[in-house]
Amino acid sequence: MATVDWPIVLDALPDAAVLLDGYALVAGFNAKAAELFPQLQMRVPVSALSRNPDLLLGIALVRRGGEQMTVQFSERVPLERAMLATLSNVSTTSASTAAPALLMIIRDLTEASRIDRMRTDFVANASHELRTPLASIIGFIETLQGAAKTDPAARDKFLAIMALQAQRMKRLVDDLMSLSKVEMHAHVMPRGEVDLNHVVAHVREALEPLAKAEAITLTSHPLTGRALVQGDRDELVQVFQNLIHNAIRYGRSGGSVSVGIERAGRSLRVRVTDDGPGIAPQHLPRLTERFYRVDVAASRRKEGTGLGLAIAKHVVQRHRGELDIRSELGNGSAFTVTLPELLIEKQ
Ligand code: ADP
Repeated sequence: MATVDWPIVLDALPDAAVLLDGYALVAGFNAKAAELFPQLQMRVPVSALSRNPDLLLGIALVRRGGEQMTVQFSERVPLERAMLATLSNVSTTSASTAAPALLMIIRDLTEASRIDRMRTDFVANASHELRTPLASIIGFIETLQGAAKTDPAARDKFLAIMALQAQRMKRLVDDLMSLSKVEMHAHVMPRGEVDLNHVVAHVREALEPLAKAEAITLTSHPLTGRALVQGDRDELVQVFQNLIHNAIRYGRSGGSVSVGIERAGRSLRVRVTDDGPGIAPQHLPRLTERFYRVDVAASRRKEGTGLGLAIAKHVVQRHRGELDIRSELGNGSAFTVTLPELLIEKQ
């Protein structure tokens, strides 16, 4: 029987792989394993790679004659990592103790576990956000059926509160649906042709009354000529609606919000700037996470759902663009969307 060329086999494997000999010393490994375990060297005992008791027990069992087993284990140093090892007996009867005896294939589950945790956190957060207004509505229904049954003034007041809570639930469900829709099509580039000058003008018109109510001067600086991108108009309207609406509600009452469109190389850049209180640096990297808010109570008061920037980021990514956030406490904020310009050949 031909002998196995282990280095070639190890390099051909899609996951990290480590080969042990009959003494449980490292007899070979591939580049992916070296990446996962920087301390890995030839001829060191397997315990130099990991001291995890479950893994070491699994290796001992397979060495004592087991055929194959899988062990899930985690390492804390240098980084917290979850891994799955498949241990297979590869010894041949004629081989010496120094010959390859056990093959460990290790899959890094860290990213998959992180995504799993994010999903569970998301469901927990969404349920919590829906539950609060729902509990309030149920409470008022009970009051209306009981104590307030014959009190028209109380009834009107409670119905008004219930309407507000129901609207809050509707906003949340609408945002959740938008988010799930963009996520579903995350890897499909939208096909439409959209002029960002028109999108910004449309959003500006819709939000002008809100700006007026806050005595905010809302100005826009369109690009001369057309500002064309390939995209989905409704989704892009939602992006700029979220950004401009945020600039108005978190900006300075009596201040100004400006929306500028400019060309930067082969891209178009839309920047929404406000002169509000700004955002402390530690919050900036987390703002686009779902339900992340600098001040939860303030966001609720201003009818926020905590999903606006998450939706904006997903839509922009689906359009092969970028969302950049700059802010300084006391110096306002600037949210910039960069999208590839759609160049139409002149006939
Ligand atoms: P929300 O529905 O709470 O507004 P977003 O995802 O749109 O959710 O925004 C997340 C948080 O980012 C907001 O709650 C607010 O704390 C902060 N934020 C967003 N835009 C601005 C801004 N222009 N100035 C200051 N803070 C902002």
